Amino acid sequence: MVDIILDDRLTSLKEQFPDTPDTIILKADVLREGISFSAEMAEAGSWSIPGGAFLSRENIPERESYGADARPPNQMILDDDTRINTELDHASPYAIRGNRDSGYTLCRHDEPVTPLSFTPRPEFSGELYDGSSIASALGQRAEHCAAIVHTVFCEYGRDGDECAYCFLGNVQTPKIIKSGRRLRGTNHRRTIEACAAASRQIRLDHVVVSGGALVDTTLEVKSYVKTVSALRAAVGPDTRITAVCQAFDQVGWRALQEAGVSRVQPNLEVWDEDLWAKIIPGKAKAIGKELWIERLKQAIDVFGVGEVATSFVAGIECCDPSTNYTEVKALAAHGEAYESLLNDEIVPMFGLLTKARGTRYENVELPATEFFLQLGWNRTQMMQQSGMFDRYTSGVDADFSCYKCVTHKTCQDYPRLMELSGNT
Ligand code: SF4
Repeated sequence: MVDIILDDRLTSLKEQFPDTPDTIILKADVLREGISFSAEMAEAGSWSIPGGAFLSRENIPERESYGADARPPNQMILDDDTRINTELDHASPYAIRGNRDSGYTLCRHDEPVTPLSFTPRPEFSGELYDGSSIASALGQRAEHCAAIVHTVFCEYGRDGDECAYCFLGNVQTPKIIKSGRRLRGTNHRRTIEACAAASRQIRLDHVVVSGGALVDTTLEVKSYVKTVSALRAAVGPDTRITAVCQAFDQVGWRALQEAGVSRVQPNLEVWDEDLWAKIIPGKAKAIGKELWIERLKQAIDVFGVGEVATSFVAGIECCDPSTNYTEVKALAAHGEAYESLLNDEIVPMFGLLTKARGTRYENVELPATEFFLQLGWNRTQMMQQSGMFDRYTSGVDADFSCYKCVTHKTCQDYPRLMELSGNT
């Protein structure tokens, strides 16, 4: 049992979701609210695995007062090992108090809620070919997990067809275009060398490969194959490699598998086809929903059941100015999606919409935490009833996503904490 002090708000959530583990209730609320930056967080970030890549909501405020090297920890760890992604929001009621000697506490409106810890940065020996440190190129997300990109450039962002919620498409890609950086032939030498060194020194259980989309998916396949082949050679046969990519055809899936991909996650993002053109116009033009789903099914023929998942941006239906979704309607759409996908043996997942800078959601009021908790509970029931959890083992592997590094989602926390996996 985790020692959590529930204030009135958290108690109310618990009363509405009595069977949901307390830490998931707390995590969902922190993910929705974000967490405010503080001197205590800067201190924790000085020795723990740092965040940055996933920091889409806010930058560190007044960086000069915390020092140019100030970073937030990439995740916060609760006592039952539940991990929460760090997304900064100066208006959040949540903040960290304490220090490394006395221990840390997650506070809500400055009242203690629960103890927190962080993962220390590993001390890697050696350096990369260009003299830089292994840690600087690794993209380490948790003790044994890393995330790398095949490219940071998204052609949909270049063409004005970026997904409406995406920081990379709305902010990073325009920045790259403005800077005039060369985009072809992205050099992965540092990243791959860092992964090779890390896999020798700390064991890498898995690496997630994601990045921008290319309009011509055969070119995107080539880019993934190039990156993954080098990665597979670097980390050896035992590290699971997940590709978060677009939906490829059978030839593309086979090429990825031969390169060393173990698992794929081409994200549908939204279920209602009418919303595709408004929210994910690039994917709508280049592939479309019907073909996307067909290609998800083709991926199962190559990778197997339990190795193919697709994720949705939960809450976007209610927040997009061009839609008139209520939370009830959005829950129904997710329910329809999950049922249809599970019938095809595809794993459905969701992440929470975040108020990413530079997107049209920057200042929206996100759906209430209750919405995300209801969605998490509904998904858990459907996964259980379909028998899909039986495809997984337990602990880190209790669901498609690893609970240690996919910290911006709650899906994978349910089967682990409620012991719903591990039946086979
Ligand atoms: S395709 Fe991927 S990288 Fe490009 S805008 Fe959409 S979510 Fe972002």
